[in-house]
Amino acid sequence: MTPVERLTTALRQAVGPDRVLTKPEDVIPYGFDGTAALRERAGTVVFPQTTAEVSQCVNAANAAGVPIVTRGSGTGLSGGSVPVPHGLVLCLAQMNRILDLDLENLTLRAEAGAVTLKIDEAAAAHGLLYPPDPGSMRISTIGGNVAENSGGLRGLKYGVTRDYVMALEVVLADGRIARFGSPCVKDVAGYSMKDLFIGSEGTLGIITEVLLKLVPRPAARRTMLAVYDRIEDAAETVSAIIAARIIPCTLEFLDRMTAQCVEDYAHVGLPTDCAAVLLMETDGHPEAVADEAARMAAIAGEHRAREVRTAKDAAEALSLAAARRNAFSALARRRPTTILEDFTVPRNRLAAMVTFIAETAARERLEVGTFGHMGDGNLHPTFLTDERDAGEMARVHHALDAIATRTLELGGTITGEHGVGLAKKPWLRQQLGDDSYELMRQVKRAIDPKGLLNPGKIFD
Ligand SMILES: Cc1cc2nc3c(=O)[nH]c(=O)nc-3n(C[C@H](O)[C@H](O)[C@H](O)COP(=O)(O)OP(=O)(O)OC[C@H]3O[C@@H](n4cnc5c(N)ncnc54)[C@H](O)[C@@H]3O)c2cc1C
Repeated sequence: MTPVERLTTALRQAVGPDRVLTKPEDVIPYGFDGTAALRERAGTVVFPQTTAEVSQCVNAANAAGVPIVTRGSGTGLSGGSVPVPHGLVLCLAQMNRILDLDLENLTLRAEAGAVTLKIDEAAAAHGLLYPPDPGSMRISTIGGNVAENSGGLRGLKYGVTRDYVMALEVVLADGRIARFGSPCVKDVAGYSMKDLFIGSEGTLGIITEVLLKLVPRPAARRTMLAVYDRIEDAAETVSAIIAARIIPCTLEFLDRMTAQCVEDYAHVGLPTDCAAVLLMETDGHPEAVADEAARMAAIAGEHRAREVRTAKDAAEALSLAAARRNAFSALARRRPTTILEDFTVPRNRLAAMVTFIAETAARERLEVGTFGHMGDGNLHPTFLTDERDAGEMARVHHALDAIATRTLELGGTITGEHGVGLAKKPWLRQQLGDDSYELMRQVKRAIDPKGLLNPGKIFD
């Protein structure tokens, strides 16, 4: 028997034959994530339904010496859940229950495969909010969000996934089950191992359960759209709003190409003849919301917004936010291959970064739509290209290299929220420096000495 055959037999015994896939036509959908031009053929895909089953699967993979790639919904944008060729994909999509909503402590416990939107909906039913809202929240899993430390449209005011994780249950590389963190608001007992596993991209352990912090749902919200004839004016509006000590929940940016594609796709009334639009949202106490909205509109006007429109009701506000969430899908309709990046710079360097991206795209003769969480300094330059055109792909990689280098020169980071995975590996050492890079690699070796979990991701 080959190692993979031994593994398949053991997995069928552990979870039953119906939850183990091996036929090529069955495993193909688990061979890629949301990242363009990255795909591999998994050997086996397994769907555990309990933590004990996850542990058994890990033991079986250990015994057979077959590497494991953990998968949530496969919406990742750095190739994190792309399988190791002929390896095991451990998909947690069937561990999707919300286990407990504690209304005294304002916490929610869920299995790792629970869909992010379902978590917020469960909280909303009790007047509570789970703030991290990645654009993919209708599909992504909370385990994937924790593994990537995902951000979202509300990140500017509310922070990212890490800020809401109180405790984790994790299956380690040798099959043991560990628990990190606690339901206590304060807890400094030992190293914060929970924080090490948040953002570890499936390379240190398999997250099976999460305990999340919830907050009261804000009583009021106001959504506005500011329209600009110059991208730099939109970028400067963002910096000016922050400098005026206003922290809106959302400051999202769409350039002309993105606005045109979204309008074409979603028909929400976005202007298509402008250089940029800013989606601005403030939430909280009704009086504070009214005051902040007025000040933000004034600041946008001072920075040459040609129009500032306020959503007249909740339905219009929702459709504007949905338009932003559809940006990736709307742009993806234009060319066969969509490469979406998440370079992030300090907010006062946004105007320089946006200009550099536009100049680079023009120089390399590439179509690039840029949108993103501008309030976080997090931009998504999105290359609309065709992976079958080798010449064009070479120009894309040249442009990406130039943008990554400029990002680091501006004090930024190669990834604000999508993780390193496969896609950002070329620049990690450049960002961290040799000593930090090697220390990180030592941590990986200490926790997963056999290199069983998501090998080949993050590090060379
Ligand atoms: C349209 C679109 C919009 C997006 N918008 C945003 C956004 O606004 N903000 C943002 O941050 N990201 C965004 N993303 C990226 C992506 O949705 C997030 O990274 C998300 O957290 C991935 O969740 P997933 O369940 O799909 O994970 P997957 O893609 O399946 O996996 C992602 C990584 O996490 C690991 N992993 C998954 N589950 C576990 C687990 N239980 N234990 C250990 N490791 C695990 C995988 O091995 C892989 O490395 C977007 C993606 C798309 C397609």
